[in-house]
Amino acid sequence: MKNSKGSLMRPFPAPESASRPVTTPLFPTAVYASDTPDMLDAQYAGELHGYTYSREGHPNADVLARMIDRLEGVPEGITGTLAGSGMGSVTNVLMGLLAAGDHLIGGSQLYGQTLQMMKRDLPRLGIETSLTDTTSAEAVAEAIRPNTKMILIEVVSNPTLALADVAGIAELCKAKGILLAVDNTFTTPHGFKPFDHGADIVIHSVTKLLAGHADVLLGYCVAKDPELNARLKQFNVCTGMTASPFDCWQAERGMLTFDLRFERAQATAVRLADMLADLPGVKKTIYPLHTSHPQYQRAQALLNGQGGNMVSFELDGGRAAANAFARAAEAISFAPTLGDVATTLSHPASSSHRCISIPEREAQGVSEGFYRVSVGLEDPEALLAVFAQAVEAARGA
Ligand SMILES: *Cc1c(COP(=O)(O)O)cnc(C)c1O
Repeated sequence: MKNSKGSLMRPFPAPESASRPVTTPLFPTAVYASDTPDMLDAQYAGELHGYTYSREGHPNADVLARMIDRLEGVPEGITGTLAGSGMGSVTNVLMGLLAAGDHLIGGSQLYGQTLQMMKRDLPRLGIETSLTDTTSAEAVAEAIRPNTKMILIEVVSNPTLALADVAGIAELCKAKGILLAVDNTFTTPHGFKPFDHGADIVIHSVTKLLAGHADVLLGYCVAKDPELNARLKQFNVCTGMTASPFDCWQAERGMLTFDLRFERAQATAVRLADMLADLPGVKKTIYPLHTSHPQYQRAQALLNGQGGNMVSFELDGGRAAANAFARAAEAISFAPTLGDVATTLSHPASSSHRCISIPEREAQGVSEGFYRVSVGLEDPEALLAVFAQAVEAARGA
């Protein structure tokens, strides 16, 4: 290759080396030089593998996508597409595959911005949308119209950790030729593998548990059908959703420890949930593997024994108790994310669920005393101690 000899402007390219770096090099280049028009033609024709322009693909994105493909058990020959954030990938799927006149059904407890897109942006483009209770396949069946093209679900809902009726919904989709898309961010491929449960499309916010260090925003989507998957890729390239090489490189490093982080966070989450369930001042604790969970049987069937790192609980004493708790738990970041190495606390009534009317919120089980915890990697004893004393402080509020 000519450019291995350098160019007039950049005369000293990286030196040749018979040995290879053990880590993936970072490729912060917008463009790749080919030797001749024939060579570029062959690349575009797919006869010769070579990168051309980084919006269309680059090594750091390919390495990261393959790591997620492998976790998700993506069919041979298919590889996912990355975007600059999880919402980029939601957009990639919804706008990349649906057209004016199509109808989309989504869970009424989907991620907030996904709900916004379904309520505001898709209808503007002529795509009909309905939100429904995806914990009930009957409710979903009632929402189906002749033009329903896709159903989008999250398996475990945020923040009340309700489980979708995946088996029932997958059956409906199969019977009616509707695409089933699963946003697997919360459950991760460790807890749930959508393709084993009838999904056609998988979406991730890589920002959360997969990258895991709250220092990168990225998304991923993949369709198991080659033609649909190619459309996802085309729409991504055309709309400029491409993830930056640096972010992919950073996320790759995070992914190397995904299994270990998940197991550690989950083990601590189980202990935290057990402790909270028995603590005076806590009205209710929600964890998928607790027998008190309203869909305990379904959690057993779907989650492969992996309850995950998310725990929700409700304090007695409403907003005053919630304020006292956050003040007393100052060693834990009160921050609207999940899946970081550090434990984070979210208070839906003052953040994600602010704009929902109080009766509607209460109907979802989100009261003023309700907190959602994303458990991280702290020393479990120290973390449990912080929660115990903060709950105690909230009791006096
Ligand atoms: C965070 C999140 C998203 C959006 O991802 P970003 O990377 O923040 O754009 C989508 N779905 C779920 C379930 C999420 O938790």
